[in-house]
Amino acid sequence: MNIHEYQARDLFEKFGVASPRGKMASTPREAEIAAQELGTEKIVIKAQIHAGGRGKGVFTNGFKGGVHTCSRPEEIREMAAKMLGQTLVTHQTGPAGRMVNKVYVVEAAEIAKELYLAILLDRASSAPVVIASTQGGMDIEAVAAQTPEKIFRESVHPLLGLQPFQARKLAAALGLHGPQAAQAAKLILALYKLFITCDCSLVEVNPLVITKTGEVLALDAKFNFDDNALYRHPEIVALRDFTEEDPREVEASKYCLNYIGLEGNIACLVNGAGLAMATMDIIKHCGGEPANFLDVGGSATKEQVAAAFKIILSDPNVKGILVNIFGGIMRCDIIAEGILAAMQETHLPVPLVVRLEGSNANLGKKLIKDSGLAVISADSLADGAEKIVAAVKAQAA
Ligand code: ADP
Ligand code: MG
Repeated sequence: MNIHEYQARDLFEKFGVASPRGKMASTPREAEIAAQELGTEKIVIKAQIHAGGRGKGVFTNGFKGGVHTCSRPEEIREMAAKMLGQTLVTHQTGPAGRMVNKVYVVEAAEIAKELYLAILLDRASSAPVVIASTQGGMDIEAVAAQTPEKIFRESVHPLLGLQPFQARKLAAALGLHGPQAAQAAKLILALYKLFITCDCSLVEVNPLVITKTGEVLALDAKFNFDDNALYRHPEIVALRDFTEEDPREVEASKYCLNYIGLEGNIACLVNGAGLAMATMDIIKHCGGEPANFLDVGGSATKEQVAAAFKIILSDPNVKGILVNIFGGIMRCDIIAEGILAAMQETHLPVPLVVRLEGSNANLGKKLIKDSGLAVISADSLADGAEKIVAAVKAQAA
């Protein structure tokens, strides 16, 4: 799960991570009032979307930049009017961009230096790692590719946690001395505490800045939370912004289905993540494009399968469906019942290929056959993939 920058700022405040004061606004007038209340000479207005690269982003109406500095509240109002309700495209949003429903009005920092700081879970060492770089404010992937020596990593012992000496080491690697090094070390330790306490999988501060008056401040914030730990954090779940998520994925999560929407036109309904990956691979191998990843799990109910089928059918890009079930704990008749339950209200608008193997496969096949649904039956994964790709192509021809 992700959150917005303005929500992240509240967490920063709670954990003592220094960052500028700000206020979220969802109308131009609210933005103007927020700017008046801040009362600072310079104010920054920032589009709130779950993607970075906003500064260099472009709105689909041609307006440039999702981050602007203004000096008067009226200017903030005008700027908010140009951003709100518009779609911002950045290198992280993809060409479709994201609708801006909120802006963040925040004190401007007088930046002397932009640095990079992140904490994430390093799967190679199975431990958190703090990453810092003097090359802040820019695309860190490019820094990692072109000048990897400018990226410092400090691995953290999962039980002992980040030690003060490690935070000081990172501050030194960032080229900081004296009071600034102390401030940076304090900020890094506070950020680590936040990372662990909130079960984050990533916290990225780009840029972390040194101001002209010598303060160390977090100016941007990107958070990822571990979905498996969200049950421990109802206060974080409350921050979820459904308008930022794929509606198909939101619906799937209500039924505890592992669904990821993709760009292709062949939908897959599979049990088991590995089998789902293999199914997507073989669809591509046969010249098709998967419309989604969908793992209904090993113990799905008829209701979950029906919900999964409806989510698949709600995608207008879907031109064919491949159901690939290897029944173990999952019984094939449950899958068949789920499909039939989903089909009760509508006719089948696209070709459907079903491959059932394993527990109660024959019963499942019989249920589908007796229903009179126009189902193409397949004997193996390869057979199923070939049949659905051919059926979709024949339909398009
Ligand atoms: P993004 O990463 O999405 O482009 P940032 O929050 O990093 O958005 O903002 C882009 C740039 O705008 C920053 O690198 C910084 O130079 C400037 N900026 C952002 N917030 C502030 C602020 N509060 N005061 C001054 N400059 C800012
Ligand atoms: Mg940034």
